[in-house]
Amino acid sequence: MSNNKKVLILGGGFAGVDAASYLRKEKYDVTLVSDRDYFYIYPTSIWVPTGRAKFEDVCVDLKELQRAHGFELIVDGVVDIKAATKTVTLQSGKVLEGYDYLIFAMGASKMKPKGIENTLSICGDPKQSLEIKDALDALVKKGSGKIAFGFGGNPKDTSAVRGGPGFELLFNVHHMLKKKGVRDNFELTMFAPMAKPGARMGEKSLAMMDKMFTRSNIKKHFGTKIKSFEKNAVVFADDTKLESDFIMFIPAGDGHEVIKASDLPLNEAGFIKINDYCEVEGMEGIYAIGDTAALEGPEWRAKQGHLAELMAKNTAFNIIAKDAGLNERKGYQEHINILCVMDTADGAGFVFRDDKKAFMIPMPIFGHWLKQGWGKYCRLSKLGKIPRIPGM
Ligand SMILES: Cc1cc2nc3c(=O)[nH]c(=O)nc-3n(C[C@H](O)[C@H](O)[C@H](O)COP(=O)(O)OP(=O)(O)OC[C@H]3O[C@@H](n4cnc5c(N)ncnc54)[C@H](O)[C@@H]3O)c2cc1C
Repeated sequence: MSNNKKVLILGGGFAGVDAASYLRKEKYDVTLVSDRDYFYIYPTSIWVPTGRAKFEDVCVDLKELQRAHGFELIVDGVVDIKAATKTVTLQSGKVLEGYDYLIFAMGASKMKPKGIENTLSICGDPKQSLEIKDALDALVKKGSGKIAFGFGGNPKDTSAVRGGPGFELLFNVHHMLKKKGVRDNFELTMFAPMAKPGARMGEKSLAMMDKMFTRSNIKKHFGTKIKSFEKNAVVFADDTKLESDFIMFIPAGDGHEVIKASDLPLNEAGFIKINDYCEVEGMEGIYAIGDTAALEGPEWRAKQGHLAELMAKNTAFNIIAKDAGLNERKGYQEHINILCVMDTADGAGFVFRDDKKAFMIPMPIFGHWLKQGWGKYCRLSKLGKIPRIPGM
C-alpha cells in the first residue's frame, strides 16, 4: 500500500535501511539502491579477522530486509547524480527520476595515502575483513612476526577519523595470539599521526587506553605524520620506518567520489552540507544522513552508526511532518555524542562523551557479551522481529 509519495534512498547501510523502514511504516513508496546486496553490521565485523564471527554473521541480506519492510530494492551502483533535477544514473545505465524525496546515505570514501595497497582496512570494503583473517592466519602459521595497526586523519574534516575499530581489532588479535600460546613471538604496534590518538573520547579514556597498551605489551608509535606505506613497512614523515609483516591501516573518511562529482553542496572534505534537520542546503526535498553528511557540532564529533540511525529517524519524521503540513522538525545536533562498547575480546570498555561528560567504564567479560548481544539485537530489530529499544 502506498501514500503516493515516492522516496529514493541511496545506500543500504545504517542510515539508508532505517530511513526506508521508518518511511515504509507511513506507507511511503520507497526505493532503496545499494551496490551491495547485504546490510553490513560494521561494529561486530571486528571479530571476523580473528575467527570469532563468520562473515555471514555480520551481514543481513537486503532481500530479507526488503521483505520485512516492503520497499523496492535495486542492487546496483550509483554512478551519477543530478540533484537539481533529482536524477540518478546507475551503473547498469538505468536512470531513476520522478521522486518526491531523495535521501543520500552512501557512506564515505577513504583517503588514499601513497602505498595504501600494501595495507588492509577493517573499515573499508567488507571483504577485506576476510583478507585480514588470511594474513593473520598465515603469520600464526609462520609462528612469529611483527604486526602494525594504525589509522590516519583528515585535516579537512576531523569527524571522519575512525580509530576505535583499530584499537578493538588490535586487542582482539592480542587475545587470539595469547590463546594460541604464541603472543610472545609477536611484536604488536599501534601507530597514528596524532600525538594523542583517541583524544576525542576524553582524557580519562585516553589514560585507561594507555594502561591497556602497557598491560598487553603493545608498542605505540604516535605523533609522527605518515608519509607512505611499503610492502613491509610504514614510512613516516621523518623517513623513519616501522617494519611490519602485516599492516592494518584505517584511512580517514573522505567524501564519496560520486557525490564529489555531483552538483550537491559539499564541505571541504566532500561531505554533503546539511542543516540540523538533515535537509541539503538550498535543495527542496533532498536529505543527507549518516557518514555521507557533513556533521556540524563540537570538535570531538564523530561519524557513528547510532548517529546515522538517529539522522534516519529524524529525516523520516521531518518528511512525514512536512507532508502533514506541520511545522515541527527534529534536529540531530543536540544528540551528538560518542557512544561505543570498545571490545577487547575478554571484555570491553564502555566509552561515552557528550558536551558535559567523558568517561570509559571497564566491563571485564560482560562487556564482550554485551557487544555480542547488541549484534544479535541489531539484526533482529532491523528485520522487525523484535521491537526497537528507544535510542538504540
Ligand atoms: C569496523 C567498524 C566498527 C564500527 N563500530 C562502531 C560502533 O561501535 N558504534 C558506532 O556507533 N559506530 C561504529 N562504526 C561506524 C558506523 O559503522 C558507521 O558510522 C555507519 O556504518 C554509517 O552508516 P551509513 O549508512 O552512513 O554508511 P555505511 O554503513 O557505510 O553504508 C553505506 C551504504 O551505501 C552503499 N553505497 C556506497 N556507495 C554506493 C554507490 N555508489 N551506489 C550504491 N550504493 C552505494 C553501501 O553499499 C552501503 O550499503 C564502526 C565502523 C566500522 C567500519
